[in-house]
Amino acid sequence: MAGGPKPELEIGDWFGKAKVDAATTMLTEPFVHDFVRANMWHLKGRDADLLVDTGMGIRPLAPEIDTPPGKPLIVVATHIHLDHIGSLHEFRLRMGPKMSAAQFGSMDDAVTYAYMFHNLDGAVSKLPAPDWKAIDYRIPSAPLTRALDEGDVVDLGDRKFRVLHLPGHSPDSIGLFDEADGLFFAGDAIYDGMLIDDLPDSDRTAYCRTMQRLLDLPIRIGHGGHGPSFDRARMGEIASSYLRRRERFVSVS
Ligand SMILES: [Zn+2]
Repeated sequence: MAGGPKPELEIGDWFGKAKVDAATTMLTEPFVHDFVRANMWHLKGRDADLLVDTGMGIRPLAPEIDTPPGKPLIVVATHIHLDHIGSLHEFRLRMGPKMSAAQFGSMDDAVTYAYMFHNLDGAVSKLPAPDWKAIDYRIPSAPLTRALDEGDVVDLGDRKFRVLHLPGHSPDSIGLFDEADGLFFAGDAIYDGMLIDDLPDSDRTAYCRTMQRLLDLPIRIGHGGHGPSFDRARMGEIASSYLRRRERFVSVS
């Protein structure tokens, strides 16, 4: 955790929660395979709250989000992979990337990679229900109520997030950046962990361009789709090491 102690994860019946600061809570699913154990971020705003990503959708997520009744909760999916969109259908204000917007209605397994979970060894370390089986796992349809493109703004009243299109891990990956205070929700475009660039829809050339762009992004703190949060220096290290790794590969191949 950049700039302070690692927030403590309180593990509940299915979800784990860590209070990052007065406005921010991180949620995760400690009992799912670490390959699909993503971070979800709940940020309290003045006029609306924000939820970035919604996990696997194995157990209901909405009851875990303590937004006061009547206050809008804007839910943003950073990309259409299974571990980020499973509970999207539980929420009313559903935003996600323009590039994959049409596919949120069908949630085709081939696009979400839900099929990869069906036969994953050790898919869960604790059964979410007595008769639960990974092979039955499905992601419900969740048509977007707003498609987000590069430059769009997500407004919480007291703060605004600029949408950045950051392809590479997936073609549709977006991030949310608050230019006023440097808070960055990165999704899987960048995080402090092993970056995945070998999925059928990954694009390494695009990923390198995204890393170049991130090197110039003046963040204060980044909250990623996986792993611990990072500051600007750490993000620079992650981006640079990815670029070096790709350059080496390109020069020997
Ligand atoms: Zn992903």
